[in-house]
Amino acid sequence: MSFLAKNYNRKKISFLRGKGSYLYTSNGKKYLDFVQGIAVNCLGHAHPRLVKTIKNQSKKLWHVSNAFQIPEGEKLAKKLCQKTFANYVMFQNSGAEATEAAIKVARRYFYSIGKPNKNRILCVKNSFHGRTIAAIFASGSKKMTEGFGPKIPGFDHFVFGDHKSLKKKITKNTAAIMVETIAGEGGIKEIPDWCLKELRKLCNKKKILLILDEVQCGISRSGDFFAFESSKIKPDIVPIAKGIGGGFPIGAVLMNKKVAVGMTPGTHGSTFGGNPLAMAVANTVMDIVSSKKFLKNVKNQSKFFNSKLNQIKDNHPNIIKEIRGKGLLIGMQLYKDQAKFINKLMDKKLLTIRANDNVVRILPPLNVKKSEIIQALKIIEKVCKELN
Ligand SMILES: *Cc1c(COP(=O)(O)O)cnc(C)c1O
Repeated sequence: MSFLAKNYNRKKISFLRGKGSYLYTSNGKKYLDFVQGIAVNCLGHAHPRLVKTIKNQSKKLWHVSNAFQIPEGEKLAKKLCQKTFANYVMFQNSGAEATEAAIKVARRYFYSIGKPNKNRILCVKNSFHGRTIAAIFASGSKKMTEGFGPKIPGFDHFVFGDHKSLKKKITKNTAAIMVETIAGEGGIKEIPDWCLKELRKLCNKKKILLILDEVQCGISRSGDFFAFESSKIKPDIVPIAKGIGGGFPIGAVLMNKKVAVGMTPGTHGSTFGGNPLAMAVANTVMDIVSSKKFLKNVKNQSKFFNSKLNQIKDNHPNIIKEIRGKGLLIGMQLYKDQAKFINKLMDKKLLTIRANDNVVRILPPLNVKKSEIIQALKIIEKVCKELN
């Protein structure tokens, strides 16, 4: 008998401890974890530097109110701004809070320049920006919003890839376009660089803001610190979360100078957002994952993983339809039943997770070893053979 609400369809397995890419059950079974809390544990489980950081900080200071200065947060914000397009950062605790805060920043900007009617956010139909009331209506998914009405106004939607409908949906009241640079839950669907460039141009022309949700694809997951970097464009606002805490719940909104004018004292807040414990952990994550050497390794491992997955696909053209993704955000779109495939991988001690579009999502830690990738490939190949 479980006293937990039934809002998750959980697998009948639990883990006692983790180390790097592996998880261990209480009866000693070892799993290769290529879920990593859904792109959260970017450095795997129990990374020694993160363990050390949390241990040291926990003896000093966990939490103080944002009524006071928090040097660890100042430090992290500076690092994030020096590394990216951003001029300012606002800390939250999760992805949904970060996307909602991004919307608040966009609306408040237009309010502060005397255009309060410019407040509508244009999003991709069936995208994913989190599960709070506003975020589900931003996502525009029937499944996620069903029974949670009344509908929150202020969101418009266009179909992914349909540029005509996107242009048509922009009105004089549109404040921002908010899209995931690579749709994670949606099935690892990437916005190509040329498209990001056009999107930036369009936003400039229409004088609206560009919000790129990098909650899943950001923080070096794509092989660049942000997935949009290869396009050379600069967004106005970027919500982040998942990877930045390495397993500790943290979210943030990054913004440029222009839009930050609206966020004056008292306009936004979060009790926990940016507390010293969270900031200490994220500082250590940031130091590790943003280095050139680290990013180069993500790209190399990704190249290897992808080419081998494509070989498996070519050997099993009736099972795997397409290998998608960028960096170590990998999607394997199947012809066969996704749930069955994932369960078979799990039977062979490889953990993966579903995404829409009949995609199996593969999310290794960013410091994954080549030998671990080879182990995963062998298991994937075996399952393909079994299903033939
Ligand atoms: C996971 C995710 C969110 C929501 O994050 P939570 O921490 O679950 O609230 C928002 N946007 C994207 C793109 C995500 O992948």
